[in-house]
Amino acid sequence: MPQLVSHPDEVKVVSRRFGQGAAEIDKYIELDGYKAVQMGIEQGPEWIVNTMKASGLRGRGGAGFPTGMKWSFVPKTSDKPKYVLVNGDESEPGTCKDHVIFLHDPHAVIEGTMIAGLAIGAKMGFIYLRGEYRYLLKIVEKAVADAYAKGFLGKNIFGKQGVDFDIITQTGAGAYEVGEESALMESLEGKRGVPRIKPPFPAVVGLYGGPTVINNAETIANAPHILLMGGEAYAKLGSERNGGTRLFGISGHVERPGVYELPMGYSLRKAIYEVAGGIKDGKKLKAVVPGGSSCPVLKADEIDCGLDFDQMAKAGTMLGSGGIVVLDESVSMVEFALRTIAFYQHESCGWCIPCREGTDWLKKTLTRFHAGGGNKKDIDNIQYLAENMMGRTFCPLGDAAAMPTLGFIKKFRSEFEEYLEGVRVEHPLIHIKPVGELAMAGAGH
Ligand code: SF4
Repeated sequence: MPQLVSHPDEVKVVSRRFGQGAAEIDKYIELDGYKAVQMGIEQGPEWIVNTMKASGLRGRGGAGFPTGMKWSFVPKTSDKPKYVLVNGDESEPGTCKDHVIFLHDPHAVIEGTMIAGLAIGAKMGFIYLRGEYRYLLKIVEKAVADAYAKGFLGKNIFGKQGVDFDIITQTGAGAYEVGEESALMESLEGKRGVPRIKPPFPAVVGLYGGPTVINNAETIANAPHILLMGGEAYAKLGSERNGGTRLFGISGHVERPGVYELPMGYSLRKAIYEVAGGIKDGKKLKAVVPGGSSCPVLKADEIDCGLDFDQMAKAGTMLGSGGIVVLDESVSMVEFALRTIAFYQHESCGWCIPCREGTDWLKKTLTRFHAGGGNKKDIDNIQYLAENMMGRTFCPLGDAAAMPTLGFIKKFRSEFEEYLEGVRVEHPLIHIKPVGELAMAGAGH
């Protein structure tokens, strides 16, 4: 089991039960578990939605859409069943926050799903885990079974006549693409995991054609805490327009990597140098990817900004999925760019041409460039390819591949140019596969 990390600057809301055995239902109940959903049953949907709106909680999956508002978009009446869908398809490189929630506090996800169901009038929820999290499925399935055994799920929950709620768990097959909400619904319906054309949006026509709320697992796990502490109190923990706290996975070249819960708006510099203990082995910081691999990179002198959706946007990047990847001076940005694009090329579902062909061309060009067969024109071509993918794809994966690529070229163009002159930063431990092997690895995709 991964070691739990801690720092005095943490404000523990969603992580407050971590390490206390709360995966067991009796412990969860002892730690105020399943109180919030009972409050929700008493107070009603409008109270839940208003409390969530007041909390300022924004989607923790990456898009940052206000959760209360999302729930309010679901029509009050519908001739089709409504659903809650929990997106636990955490696949963004550098991101491992939902993992720790499922591991340490699965009942918070279950209770949050029930609260979302009460808010929109759904009687069924689905918890969808990424394929590679199959080992967590046992934990979540046991938690769901225990909740049924206590009468918290099923018919007449908590002894309330006519209040029903069921939860089904499901894993994917290991595709990054199904993290996109409409592709996730396709996958859950047993189809190929490719996105749907929007509109209609899931709030109106979602899973099996019914109105559906889809939220990231961390977003959902926050709901019980917000109902218990009050929306305003939660909002105050964060920064302007960015209520509450967030789980940040800090990885890479830091002394104390781990998942930390910090207030929204917390300084990125402090997160690296204080919370995560600074750069490993006394090396210099070179760059930071602040919110998972799809976010444009920040240079070492650009980290004096706050970790919230708005401040990150102002800094020219994104808060994304909260995965902060720290790179020291030993990292070759040419190699890092190739590794990043190789991931997106592999994960492109092939549904639309700019992403399918664009990621392939980018990988081919970067592979040749990295292997020493590049020329100056390649740098402009890489930029041109990425620019032409932006905003031209069915789902955000196209942008997710293009944005970091543009960031690497914009921020580290001189390193790409020097690379052509034979100036190389070579990490002593990390070496990418030789060009032939890498091309072969991508060829069968
Ligand atoms: Fe598939 Fe990429 Fe198009 Fe998304 S952008 S639908 S992943 S091909």
